[in-house]
Amino acid sequence: MIRILWEYFFSWIVYLLGVLSNCFPRAVLHYILQLFPYLILGSICYGLDVIFLSVQGGHLRAVVDNAAHGIIAFISWCIVSEIQTRKNLIDGIMCGFIACAIDVDHFIAAKSFNLQDALHLNKRPFLHATTIVIIVVPILQVWIAQNIYFLRSLPYLFAVAVISHHLRDGNRRGLWFWPLGSTPPLPYWMYITCTVALPVIIKDMKSSIDKFAVIPISRQNSVLMDV
Ligand SMILES: [Zn+2]
Repeated sequence: MIRILWEYFFSWIVYLLGVLSNCFPRAVLHYILQLFPYLILGSICYGLDVIFLSVQGGHLRAVVDNAAHGIIAFISWCIVSEIQTRKNLIDGIMCGFIACAIDVDHFIAAKSFNLQDALHLNKRPFLHATTIVIIVVPILQVWIAQNIYFLRSLPYLFAVAVISHHLRDGNRRGLWFWPLGSTPPLPYWMYITCTVALPVIIKDMKSSIDKFAVIPISRQNSVLMDV
C-alpha cells in the first residue's frame, strides 16, 4: 500500500516537474525547486490547521493537534538534513517524536491522565517555556552530541522539535520566555513564516558548525559505519 502511494506521489512529482520545465526557464525552475520544500512545509502547516479546526470532540482534536506537531517537526528535519542517509530519516522520526512528547508536560503538571485536567491548567506547563532551548541545547551538545557519534545531531533536532512546537502553540497563546513572561499570540502569518524559516536557520547553523567540527580518530571508524 505504502509503495503504491509512494509510486503515485513520485509519478505526480515527475509530471509536475515536466510541466514546470516547459513553463519556466531553467534558472527560474532551479529557484522554484529550491523553494519547493519550504512551500510544502508552509502548505502542510496550513492544511493541518484546517483539519484541526474542522475536527469536533476534545480527544480527537488533541490527537490531531499532537500529530500536527510531530508531522511539522518531521518535515522540518527532512529539510534540514535533506534525507541523504537512513540515519537522517531516523533523526527525522526522533524529531517528530520529541515534538509530540512535549505535550506530556500537560499531564505531569495536572498530575492526572484526564485530558480535561491536562487542558485546563492555571499556568503553562514547564516544557512549553521556550527558554528550555537555550538551556538544554548546549547541555545536549557538550554531554551527548560530542560523546555519542550516533546522537551528534540531537541538539539541532531537539531545537527544531521544541521551537516548531512552541511556534504552533504560540499562534494561540504566544511564546513563553520563562522567567520574563509571554509574548502576545503570534499572528498567523508570523507563525507560518517563522516555522518555514526555522529549518533554513538551523540548516545554516548546522553546516557552519559542522565545518569546524573535528572528528576524533577513535570515532572515525564509526563515520565509515554510518548508515
Ligand atoms: Zn503544546
